[in-house]
Amino acid sequence: GNAAKVASAPLGTTGANPTVTTTGKRANAVLLILARNREAFGLRSSLKQLERRFNHKYHYPYVILNDEPFDSNFKRIVDQTVSGNVSYGLIPKEHWSYPPWIDLNKAAEGREKLKNVIYGTSESYRHMCRFNSGFFFHHPLLAQYDYYWRVEPDVDFTCNINYDPFVYMQERDLQYGFTITLHEFRSTVATLWETTKDFMAQHPEYVSHPNTLEWVVEKATGDYNMCHFWSNFEIANLNLLRSERYRAYFDHLDQAGGFFYERWGDAPVHSLAAAMFLRKDEIHFFEDIGYRHSVYENCPTGLTFNLQNCNCDPKRSINPQGLACTRDFLKMDPQSDFNITTMEQN
Ligand code: GDP
Ligand code: MN
Repeated sequence: GNAAKVASAPLGTTGANPTVTTTGKRANAVLLILARNREAFGLRSSLKQLERRFNHKYHYPYVILNDEPFDSNFKRIVDQTVSGNVSYGLIPKEHWSYPPWIDLNKAAEGREKLKNVIYGTSESYRHMCRFNSGFFFHHPLLAQYDYYWRVEPDVDFTCNINYDPFVYMQERDLQYGFTITLHEFRSTVATLWETTKDFMAQHPEYVSHPNTLEWVVEKATGDYNMCHFWSNFEIANLNLLRSERYRAYFDHLDQAGGFFYERWGDAPVHSLAAAMFLRKDEIHFFEDIGYRHSVYENCPTGLTFNLQNCNCDPKRSINPQGLACTRDFLKMDPQSDFNITTMEQN
């Protein structure tokens, strides 16, 4: 219950980013976390920074989910860290287990084949990726919200965020926001593109025009170029994922079994969905949000760096580099309407 604090929060008084107008409006939004009990202190580290850099002024609520019940130690540590109301949720078994059509022997063989790839042999990682691809937005604790911001344990928020990114999204009808793009390990998604093309062939009515498919297609071969938005940070519209077409896409992928036979990540899945369903101007690069996850980061440059009191090295920012796909995203024509059958931009 932070209603009183919310009303007196100094909205609109600290807008350091000159392109952003703060209005005092609030979005119907939630800070969303998936975590394990043993990650309490890693999560505390992320949340201390998120609170200091952003949420102490906005008091957005948190929903924290787990496939096992959270213990009292975890809850105590998180409750002591944040300024927003926290709800702890348990993930239903059917959202974190093998569906009946999966061949468990074939899944075991698939893990063996990926033993040289990060998380290649992990079963829990696959359940996590499938959950983040197809189920989190069905959780009852999220039913009341329109936007989510995904946060993980042990990430860094390295700059002040002097406006409300949720309201920013809402006012511009943005559907998906990112800070980092990367290339996926090909062996983890060997048949994801084929399966996605089958889906588009079966449901051409679900593909938007314009779209952002151009960004994910390798022009020379027509194959998936492995570009994806790194999903450990996302600010997005839950209604995109709740839509009939997204649910149909997930079901199509889930039936094919690649979450278990390969190691399809939720990042390429969300990204291919965005590529099919969204125009470029519905996707936003939060260039001004300083964010680090493991070895990759986005660090603002120029004026923003000082105005937002950043604590990162702009030279280490991944987005200008070839390992990322951000430059190609930014270069894309907003009217791009790529046709995967003819391999042409209409
Ligand atoms: P990476 O970012 O791909 O290296 O994977 P992480 O280990 O960071 O996992 C991604 C997110 O899922 C993090 O928020 C983790 O806390 C969470 N996560 C991963 N595996 C599990 C799991 O088995 N159970 C629960 N409850 N959360 C998990
Ligand atoms: Mn992570």
